[in-house]
Amino acid sequence: MTDTQQLLEEIKVLQTKLSKAEGALNLALSHLGYADVDHDSYMRTEYGCTVYGDDYVSCHCEDCEGYVLDKYGSYIIEGQGNSESARCDNDDCCYFDGGSEENQ
Ligand SMILES: [Zn+2]
Repeated sequence: MTDTQQLLEEIKVLQTKLSKAEGALNLALSHLGYADVDHDSYMRTEYGCTVYGDDYVSCHCEDCEGYVLDKYGSYIIEGQGNSESARCDNDDCCYFDGGSEENQ
């Protein structure tokens, strides 16, 4: 077996473990009565992080509690993503529509 084949095998094993862990989390949430709850936005709102504990980029405006969205409308995680054309998800914020970006 080549190194590449071995790595691919290891990736397959890890993907299976990840998928089982995600399934276990969903079962646990459902067991606790939180089936179909938006766990992602709960974690973002309450803790400012993803379900994996990675921090979201929060808006730097004064008194703004919003988080930064990229140009595709996805939340940006610290150290990841592209802040080009970023905007704030708080509709009271001056960066809600990207500041200087055009409105629709
Ligand atoms: Zn903001």
